[in-house]
Amino acid sequence: MIPSECESKLRQLNQIFLEENQKLNLSAFREEEQSWVGNIEDSLSILDSGIELNGKIFDLGTGGGFPLLPLAICQPESKLTGLDSTNKKISAVERITKELSLTNVDLISGRAEELGRDPEHREQYDLILSRAVAGTNTLLELCAPFTKVKGKIVFWKSMKIDKELEDSLMARAELTCHLTNQYEYELPEPFGKRQLLIFEKTSPTSDKYPRKIGEPKKKPLT
Ligand code: SAH
Repeated sequence: MIPSECESKLRQLNQIFLEENQKLNLSAFREEEQSWVGNIEDSLSILDSGIELNGKIFDLGTGGGFPLLPLAICQPESKLTGLDSTNKKISAVERITKELSLTNVDLISGRAEELGRDPEHREQYDLILSRAVAGTNTLLELCAPFTKVKGKIVFWKSMKIDKELEDSLMARAELTCHLTNQYEYELPEPFGKRQLLIFEKTSPTSDKYPRKIGEPKKKPLT
């Protein structure tokens, strides 16, 4: 599952991340093996999903750098941008990318509701990723504005999401983000089975979206 040529750099990432995590509380996974599986292997599940990773990739709510950093290591030809609204987290990810000499990563501190209206970023990305940030309906409103027409959006989710998927029907229709695949994978216990939700956006996003800061979460499209 993990390409062998990336393993030593990924191990280095895990070490540096755990050091930053002690200072900043970036992730609940504090032990080496737990973070290796729960952060790094989980982020890299996308490598086996069949999704094209060559274009411009955007990680919305990257936090301490997942899935952004493992992918930047394994996909040196891709250009990745990470966004988070917490400045301290973005600074930590900046330090990590410097220490690992990653040159294919850009980092932005800000809110998706604002950046999604910036012409430099609106409809500029082939692939939007998001792990552990919000419910599907909220996330689609935050992610769709960044996505090119025919681009893809991928969410990392648990297996128990029937209700969440049902609650996202209106958001999917309104934002023309169609669920094209649910890619299931399995991590060693206690993580177990998980899935990637894969959407394709088929038309430009209306100027109405994203709504103002906080609204996609407070009043999700339903
Ligand atoms: N993706 C990372 C972090 C998940 S925590 C991981 O899987 O480990 C969720 C992160 O999303 C937090 O760091 C939070 O600051 C960020 N976030 C939540 N809403 C956001 C928004 N509207 N714009 C930008 N970042 C947001």
